[in-house]
Amino acid sequence: MSRFFSGRYLSLEPYTPGEQPKDRRFIKLNTNESPFPPAENGAGAIAAEYEKLMLYPDPTASGLKELFAEVYQTETKNIAFSNGSDDLLNFSFMAFCDDETGAAFPDITYGFYKVFAELNHIDHMEIPLKEDLTLDPDDYKKLGRTCFIANPNAPTGIALTPRRIEELVKADPDHVVIVDEAYVDFGAESCIPLTKKYDNILVIGTFSKSRSFAGARFGYAVGNEELIKDLNTLIYSTNPYNVNRLTMAAAAAVLKDGEYTRANCRKVMENRAFTVSELRRLGFTVTESLANFVFARSPEISGEDLYLKLKERGILVRHFSAERIKDYNRITIGSMEDMQALIAAVSRILSEEK
Ligand SMILES: *Cc1c(COP(=O)(O)O)cnc(C)c1O
Repeated sequence: MSRFFSGRYLSLEPYTPGEQPKDRRFIKLNTNESPFPPAENGAGAIAAEYEKLMLYPDPTASGLKELFAEVYQTETKNIAFSNGSDDLLNFSFMAFCDDETGAAFPDITYGFYKVFAELNHIDHMEIPLKEDLTLDPDDYKKLGRTCFIANPNAPTGIALTPRRIEELVKADPDHVVIVDEAYVDFGAESCIPLTKKYDNILVIGTFSKSRSFAGARFGYAVGNEELIKDLNTLIYSTNPYNVNRLTMAAAAAVLKDGEYTRANCRKVMENRAFTVSELRRLGFTVTESLANFVFARSPEISGEDLYLKLKERGILVRHFSAERIKDYNRITIGSMEDMQALIAAVSRILSEEK
């Protein structure tokens, strides 16, 4: 770091994204990207928008909000958009935590929560998941903190029902529960309906995973009008043109083709079922994932060894070195071909271990 770096961030440890290697072709099962291209109709929408790039985008995104409200069964005043959902998560830490109200999230969850808490100097508590890596909302009810819950959770893929989350929202009406639904489209149930009933739940989602939009950067938040206003105060104090024209045009097109997204999610769920049963057949313990990845460990090989040996064979998965989960790998669900290649490679690696 330079001698000019702000003293406020000296201890900040930035988030480490999964590898994006350029040196050879890998089967990439390490960053939970979709194996499918985005819906076709977005390409024309982007091309048509290109000639308007000299103009700033509409900071209110009013047209896109109307469309989104229809698809997600909410109202335009209950929606905020951003350049990826990570941005909205950061704004939520800024908006709903302070010196009095700290944050709480699981010890094993999306690594960015801790980074955002530290970036914003927010006191944070990491609540251990149960032994079986499930999350018990009861653990959060009496904390008096803003709670961040990924549902399904990452990297376990385990989901709670909206009913369980509602219990938490109800138990502590003076604190906000932020539900990160990055993976909700792969078989879990959304908490968006709860945002109509309670003023202390904010649902955050992304087009990065189920809608194949990781490269376009588009995230959304749905909640009570007042919560959305708070987020907008921060968005408008940072960058009111947070979502660019090309992404907005493409997002609208992709929203209109809901069947394409649903069909892709069904394929991912089928490929997940195949992967889980094959891994279990090979002796792995696999969590009950409702996400586009599985989380698995073998009694025969360490998580790190398996990760390295798969990498040698041209397959990238994600290994985390945190003590509780170092035996596991998080494996993104790709195409059926990808998953067959993965299972064949794992099977060969295991037989070499013997
Ligand atoms: C991928 C992911 C996000 C971030 O999504 P972007 O919209 O690409 O910023 C947020 N939360 C979780 C749990 C994720 O896995």
